[in-house]
Amino acid sequence: MPNDEANRRTAIVNDLEQHEKRTDAQRLVTSLDSGLSVLRDLFYGRLHFDVEQMVGSDSMLIPLSEPKTQRATKVQIEIFQVVESTELAWDRGYVSSDQWYLDWLTRFRLSEMAGKEKIVKEIAAYRGMKPDGRRLAFSDVLMRVLPESRKAPLVLFQLVPLAIRIATAVAFQDDSAAAELRQQQKAILPSIGDCHACRGAVLDNGQMCDVCSNPMWAYQWLTAAD
Ligand SMILES: [Zn+2]
Repeated sequence: MPNDEANRRTAIVNDLEQHEKRTDAQRLVTSLDSGLSVLRDLFYGRLHFDVEQMVGSDSMLIPLSEPKTQRATKVQIEIFQVVESTELAWDRGYVSSDQWYLDWLTRFRLSEMAGKEKIVKEIAAYRGMKPDGRRLAFSDVLMRVLPESRKAPLVLFQLVPLAIRIATAVAFQDDSAAAELRQQQKAILPSIGDCHACRGAVLDNGQMCDVCSNPMWAYQWLTAAD
């Protein structure tokens, strides 16, 4: 099994190298992988464990099968990440074809599930939406898959699409886009800039601030806005 995973990773790197004529495909794939994986896992944690801690577990809301729910939620997060990342990559001219990047990233993030009709349809539906509509559709999907996510602070859902775009910009070494997107997050949640440890700076993909949990802020920061 570890061999299969290694072979799959090699194919992903080779595809990027060949299609986009990049000599840094290995670095880029590693960076994008750690950036998107950290966001997915921290976001899931905010929606599930943090909500449970902050508001208590409501027996009506406890999912029947946690591992299954966790897998389903993370698939939904990956689908959303694929679409947000593609939009930024295309807008900023990181890739020669948005459809190619979309397909490549879907294979990268969803591996054997990438070809499933349900997933292809969900990606196409998100692609047809404007950013605000997509964000709302995403939060609706999460509420169905992970009922306790309805108790998460709304600001979290506003920060997440921008966080995905920042991880993409960092992977493509576009510092000015990353900084611009972080400014948009600060406009939504000014307290981001108050952390004495990171000052709300853009971190490298895979890194996290020990104090505020930048790039997916801890609850006390999310709720400190007012
Ligand atoms: Zn910090």
